[in-house]
Amino acid sequence: MAIRDTYDVVILGVGPAGLQAAVHAGRRKASVLLLGSVRKSSLFTAHIENYFSLFNISGEEMLRRGTEQARQFGADFLEESVIGIAPDEHVFRVTTESARVIAARSVIFATGSKRNTLGVRGEKKLLGRGVSYCVDCDGHFFRGQDVCIVGNESAAADGTLTLTKIAGSVHLICERLEAAANLQEEVYASGAVIHEGVRVDAIQGEDAVEGVSLSDGTRLAVQGVFIELGAKGVLELALNLGVALDSDMKYIQTNKQQETNIPGIYAAGDICGMPWQMAKAVGEGCVAGMGAAAYAKKQKGRRRAAVGE
Ligand SMILES: Cc1cc2nc3c(=O)[nH]c(=O)nc-3n(C[C@H](O)[C@H](O)[C@H](O)COP(=O)(O)OP(=O)(O)OC[C@H]3O[C@@H](n4cnc5c(N)ncnc54)[C@H](O)[C@@H]3O)c2cc1C
Repeated sequence: MAIRDTYDVVILGVGPAGLQAAVHAGRRKASVLLLGSVRKSSLFTAHIENYFSLFNISGEEMLRRGTEQARQFGADFLEESVIGIAPDEHVFRVTTESARVIAARSVIFATGSKRNTLGVRGEKKLLGRGVSYCVDCDGHFFRGQDVCIVGNESAAADGTLTLTKIAGSVHLICERLEAAANLQEEVYASGAVIHEGVRVDAIQGEDAVEGVSLSDGTRLAVQGVFIELGAKGVLELALNLGVALDSDMKYIQTNKQQETNIPGIYAAGDICGMPWQMAKAVGEGCVAGMGAAAYAKKQKGRRRAAVGE
């Protein structure tokens, strides 16, 4: 399937919120691209008994049906995570982990809310004292120092590349690196020391991070530990665009139309807050899909008027 250069609606997330948004935007004749992975949806491992009219069904089966349904309404799919979004005149430029850039007239964040902590000894105690969940926010505090970054996906790969330009030495700790092929190649060529097939067992230090111990018995002396699990930190993407978060900085803020404070940017599902339930994700996805399609249509009209077509 050929991916176009420009879409009316680009949706980050192939869970219930993103898929429902795709169905509603597609039925309004918007061109729709879904980015992300079905396997990374929280629903993938769930067994559902509390959704209207459906019970005793696996999440994996629901996602398979939802994907097929969105395809029927014309949606395209690209199984990559997004690592950057930037406004550019009348569109948003969405950059994927393979460095593909797609123009979007509107964007929907339907990225879920996955656990992003390691849950190991020392992590909570040393948060803000060497432990960080955001390379883009805190990387510059570690200029010239020795750091490690933990994670298997695009967030960790992208963070490694950033840190190699700032820190003294960078250790990437991953069970298995699973980012796009070109991003992985860049990481292998970056000069970072890669520890594959291991986990962090504990983070050491009293008032500040002094090191980490790994599951193979190795101890690394580092001053910074960056935990970048999953896809590119969604909240980082949102913050870089100027999207407002809630007061705890955990979720994207929207109104009842699922609009954020940035025109053309919508959000739906777990990323908008509790309860983390499929029924809520689907309802918000429906509203966001309709709103994003209408916004894109208006944008096209304005553009045509501006160029006098
Ligand atoms: C074990 C378990 C059991 C559950 N049981 C139930 C239940 O019984 N009933 C119920 O209603 N709910 C249940 N849930 C919750 C339900 O699965 C979630 O509420 C629902 O999946 C949220 O949908 P979502 O679309 O918001 O996010 P998700 O389904 O989590 O989808 C997130 C999507 O975002 C994508 N993504 C993330 N970052 C990026 C990025 N940077 N670029 C591109 N894509 C990105 C991922 O690849 C994924 O496709 C359960 C969850 C779990 C984990």
